[in-house]
Amino acid sequence: MYELKFDPDLCMACDTQDCLVKCQHMDIDQETARTEILKLADGEDSFVLRDCVTCYACEEYCPNGNHPFYLIVKMQEELGMLPLPDPLVKSGVQVGIPFRGEPVIDEMEGTVLNMGVFSPLLGRVEGSKLFEGLPVISHDSRKMFHYFCQLMYLHYGKTSVINERLDGIIQTLASHGAKEIVHFHDECYGTYTSYAPAFGIEVPFKSIHLFEFLYNRLLELKDEIRPLGYKVVYQRPCSSRLSSDKHPFVAKIFDLIGVEYMDREYKDENAMCCGATILGQKKEGSRVYCAEIQKKNIDDMKKAGGQICVFNCPACMQTLGMPVSKAGIMPLFMSDLCRLAIGEKVG
Ligand code: SF4
Ligand code: SF4
Repeated sequence: MYELKFDPDLCMACDTQDCLVKCQHMDIDQETARTEILKLADGEDSFVLRDCVTCYACEEYCPNGNHPFYLIVKMQEELGMLPLPDPLVKSGVQVGIPFRGEPVIDEMEGTVLNMGVFSPLLGRVEGSKLFEGLPVISHDSRKMFHYFCQLMYLHYGKTSVINERLDGIIQTLASHGAKEIVHFHDECYGTYTSYAPAFGIEVPFKSIHLFEFLYNRLLELKDEIRPLGYKVVYQRPCSSRLSSDKHPFVAKIFDLIGVEYMDREYKDENAMCCGATILGQKKEGSRVYCAEIQKKNIDDMKKAGGQICVFNCPACMQTLGMPVSKAGIMPLFMSDLCRLAIGEKVG
């Protein structure tokens, strides 16, 4: 059984309580924050368990890497306070079952690309110079759940489901034999570099963040880059909070391809989530609150003068792509923006 590494002594000695003080979805002063996080560490109930919208941000806010968000999710499950309605949790956990049939294990070496559960988006990758020479672990979208990192279940309050399935997913990935894996989705990257070590789950391969890969590949193709000159804003996804050390690659890529990364209120650490999980909670007021934060976010993009909203996560794109487009801002995946910069057409 895997145990979360959470050290209450770090909270006792902590002089910021930033995990909860900085939360955008609750108004918590420092003293209350200290009391509530220590209650959770002691296995006690807290209003935080009910009011958390599972935006992941406190994982980044904690300056001590003490995993406050994983603690919240673990306690939501232990105390039976799941953040989503029960029927949704019951059906949701069935969706990601990875062991329907067997994966096809092609032997690979060196560095490979893992599409995770997004193999239907392979068309955005294949045929691009950016990904030339990078073999894809599995092309078969029928097998994609064998590569599903399962971290989505943090939104369901279900660390038990993740912990039950994750080792099998890791073994499937590892059995291809590659030493380094570039993850198309940064939720996968966060799973193998943040969640797994936090729960003591061994990962036998090295993970590479997509944006780090893209940046290094663009450096190799530097002579082919034609500066794009757009004003861009970025929709930072919840999973990016698990790999905040890789977030600077956003600005580095924008700089390299000659786009202007516009300043705005909901930028970097103060990013606003896309709202999908808030809507999914289906609590009283969820719909109104989701519409409110989406409006604030998109108004902020417009005020900043963004011409393109760059997305990292396909789920954020699905949620915010249309409203962003209706606001006159073009939604585009980061990899597609990079393709444009080297003169490739994107569909
Ligand atoms: S979880 Fe982190 S930020 Fe929160 S009180 Fe503990 S050490 Fe401080
Ligand atoms: S996950 Fe988000 S909403 Fe929940 S406590 Fe952390 S910062 Fe607040």
